Amino acid sequence: MEHPQVRETDPAVADALAGEVRRQQDTLAMIASENHVSEAVLEAQGSALTNKYAEGYPGERYYAGCEHADEVEQLAVERAKELWGADHVNVQPHSGTQANMAVYLAVLDPGDRILSLELEHGGHLSHGHPANFTGQLFDVEQYRVDPETGYIDYEALAARAESFDPDIVVSGFSAYPREVEWDRIQAAADAVDAYHLSDIAHITGLVAAGVHDSPVGVADFVTGSTHKTIRAGRGGIVMCDEEYADDVDAAVFPGGQGGPLMHNVAGKAVGFEEALRPEFEAYARQVVDNAEALAASFADNGFEVVSGGTDTHLVLVDLRESHPDVSGGDAEDALADAGIVLNANTVPGETRSPFDPSGIRAGTPALTTRGFDEAAHREVGDLIHRVVDNVDDDSVIAEVRERVDELTDEHPLYD
Ligand SMILES: *Cc1c(COP(=O)(O)O)cnc(C)c1O
Repeated sequence: MEHPQVRETDPAVADALAGEVRRQQDTLAMIASENHVSEAVLEAQGSALTNKYAEGYPGERYYAGCEHADEVEQLAVERAKELWGADHVNVQPHSGTQANMAVYLAVLDPGDRILSLELEHGGHLSHGHPANFTGQLFDVEQYRVDPETGYIDYEALAARAESFDPDIVVSGFSAYPREVEWDRIQAAADAVDAYHLSDIAHITGLVAAGVHDSPVGVADFVTGSTHKTIRAGRGGIVMCDEEYADDVDAAVFPGGQGGPLMHNVAGKAVGFEEALRPEFEAYARQVVDNAEALAASFADNGFEVVSGGTDTHLVLVDLRESHPDVSGGDAEDALADAGIVLNANTVPGETRSPFDPSGIRAGTPALTTRGFDEAAHREVGDLIHRVVDNVDDDSVIAEVRERVDELTDEHPLYD
């Protein structure tokens, strides 16, 4: 993949872009929130729509010349409705965080109460963390996973809702490997007359393909990122019942954003079209099969897998039992040297710090896009264990790096 125009204008950026393409080709992308979009999505995102101001919505824009922007946005909306079965969809949020912001703006006032999962237990910054606007504007309490099982403690969640009386309950997570029981969270929200926002950022693709239960039609609001398992390029999306449509649309624009990134909306439209094809369902199933194979490989090697396995695209490992002297950060660094890119992650009952936590999180969406199957994931699991067992041994890391080079050569990314 070349960028000849960039090279002519700006060799420094061209070098960095070429380096990034090479980095993606030559490493195993196992950050659970990442994926590789198709060249069609890349082309749409790099299109002339970046020039167009299209504040407003199709048919009701603030500027002239929006006929093609309208076509693209309508296609994205129609396809999203088909993928997730939502009554109303807004495809303009710049990212998943902006999608969440729109929901909060639509139904909360500053000082209102949010009940959400603790970040260290798999939640997200935009669910009420003190460093995020949500923690600064709202009164936040948090629920947790059961430290023994790693599963959400639904009974404790319901009890917390009773005592805290939140205005909104947030579900949907960044580092939770198990199927979520949306209806139990909905019941807890209903019992205290709270809204329910289900943020499926990570699992949009799994839900669209039907390999994870859908919160659409259960929760009042469903938000997502479009660049994770759904593979439609960077951005966010909000879905809701018709009764909230006007409030959500007004909260996205003009409430929280200016003009939409129409080139990214085009990327969403193209990625959603790809996701409507039967191959996408096979892809999503393979993502989960691969995660199960990876979890099994980890367990066979003696790693402690949080919750004992996975139902999704990610596996969380708690290193404290098997490798008490290796932090998540140590593992992340050694693995990066070996060409395996994943992230250190907090684990339930975290005893280190969020900056150098006790676990690692590994996801399968990107490798599955490259054609890695279960056997390949079992081998990658072995390689990860070997590196974590030998974080200070440069010769082991070099050997693993050689095998990673072979695997990446066997699974080319972009032409
Ligand atoms: C990734 C993620 C988001 C959105 O992140 P952006 O980087 O803003 O797209 C929101 N919620 C959860 C649970 C996530 O994992």
